[in-house]
Amino acid sequence: MSIVIAIDGPAAAGKGTLARRLEEHFKLSKLDTGLLYRATGWKVVSGGGDPEDPDVAEAAACALDPVELSNPDLRSDAAAQAASKVSAIPGVRAALLDFQRNFAKNPPVLANGEPAQGAILDGRDIGTTVCPDADAKLFVTASAEIRAKRRFLELQERGLDAIYARVLEDMKERDARDSGRSASPLAAADDALQLDTSNMDADQAFAAALDFINAKNLF
Ligand code: C5P
Repeated sequence: MSIVIAIDGPAAAGKGTLARRLEEHFKLSKLDTGLLYRATGWKVVSGGGDPEDPDVAEAAACALDPVELSNPDLRSDAAAQAASKVSAIPGVRAALLDFQRNFAKNPPVLANGEPAQGAILDGRDIGTTVCPDADAKLFVTASAEIRAKRRFLELQERGLDAIYARVLEDMKERDARDSGRSASPLAAADDALQLDTSNMDADQAFAAALDFINAKNLF
């Protein structure tokens, strides 16, 4: 039987790091679903289109090729902002749903060729919409200030110019759009473990997630 773990939460809350550690620990295939929205948004803006135009954005989502997910430009803040705009369009979300559900149901083999024990998907609506029957759901949060600080330091480490106040403003803008949209807004599922990482390091967040998952005796 294939296990599904769902991780949701706002940007820079620590979802990605936690998902990578759980992926490795439980031998799961991981899908960072934000990349699907980033790739869609990036395809639109880099072609000179408007990411808030439903027809253009939906066409970009339908034409998405998984090889586009490895484009390094998708990590940029421009791609994140474009992602947050296209992701509010119901047709875009519908177009990306099958890919995500299929991944969860049929997780690809691991990089070493071994079969995966299951799938781990991280995003905004995995536990509520994409995989409402997931075996374990985690909702990872942290205050906007802490998340902006993490993102600011990460940008600096990558040698990029950043201003903390601007990063915080962008973060709040994206939070408001992700939580306020009517199509699958950012929300915790009722049965999710809520993990506030404001005062936790990556090891502590991983330990709390492991306790929660191990208590379910899934593996
Ligand atoms: O997680 P990441 O920052 O890469 O996501 C980029 C954007 O994609 C988010 O701000 C959100 O608008 C959108 N997204 C979404 N649903 C998901 C994953 C990401 O709407 N499952």
